[in-house]
Amino acid sequence: MEKQASTTTSSLPLKGVGGSLSSLPLKGVGGSLISLQTLKKVFRTKEIDTWALREVSLEVKEGEFVAIMGPSGCGKSTLLNIMGLLDVPTGGTYMLGGKDVSQLNDTERTKLRRGTIGFVFQSFNLIDELSVYENVELPLLYMGLPARERKERVMQVLDRLAMSHRRKHFPAQLSGGQQQRVAIARAVVSNPKLILADEPTGNLDSTNSKEVMDLLCQMHEQGTTIVMVTHSQHDASFADRIVELYDGQIVQHAEL
Ligand code: ADP
Repeated sequence: MEKQASTTTSSLPLKGVGGSLSSLPLKGVGGSLISLQTLKKVFRTKEIDTWALREVSLEVKEGEFVAIMGPSGCGKSTLLNIMGLLDVPTGGTYMLGGKDVSQLNDTERTKLRRGTIGFVFQSFNLIDELSVYENVELPLLYMGLPARERKERVMQVLDRLAMSHRRKHFPAQLSGGQQQRVAIARAVVSNPKLILADEPTGNLDSTNSKEVMDLLCQMHEQGTTIVMVTHSQHDASFADRIVELYDGQIVQHAEL
């Protein structure tokens, strides 16, 4: 499968945009952005222990596009949640940009996440009560940017994703493809170093899927590191590398 780059939107992500990267000592281009060593995750309930991740070791270089595949229940979302600092491992180490983030507390993880990691979910996860503009603005509000800078950045990213004419609409007034475009705008508006995408085309038809993959490829071309969970071989073919998970373990790496 030949990789295609988008010709429909101009360059992403935004240039010259700060973030909370000051707390993340990133290495030079080509270094490891993510380094997981024997990562484990167990979900304990009274009745049963579920080993979602048994022993996962994985390096993701800065600027790499990695697809994670595997059957339902094999641990893909758990792995993505840990990479995204939404959850903590039970064992092993997670180095992000050279910093050990395995045991950070909630506040530290939230602080590091803001401006560093952008998320794109299958179900878009937009806030229904907020307009397109307000949804995209939200990460910048969390980062504490002044109103004028927020406006400039939000309008710039909406323009680039051809969504500025929809800025006053609410998510329910948009198609699935448009909602995912807004979700991507929200993910990139803070110019994150890392985009984590969990089945980003899972709810989209082929036309909208292509558009979303074009956008992710474009971000990748511009240096953003992307880790994407997908069930689609076609979507995975755009990545540099496919990591296959099975029963909480990596069973195969395929360079593309
Ligand atoms: P995938 O994304 O590949 O479908 P998940 O990471 O969602 O897999 O789940 C891996 C395993 O961990 C599954 O057996 C799932 O039932 C279990 N699991 C995930 N989250 C929880 C949780 N919060 N509590 C208990 N078990 C969980």
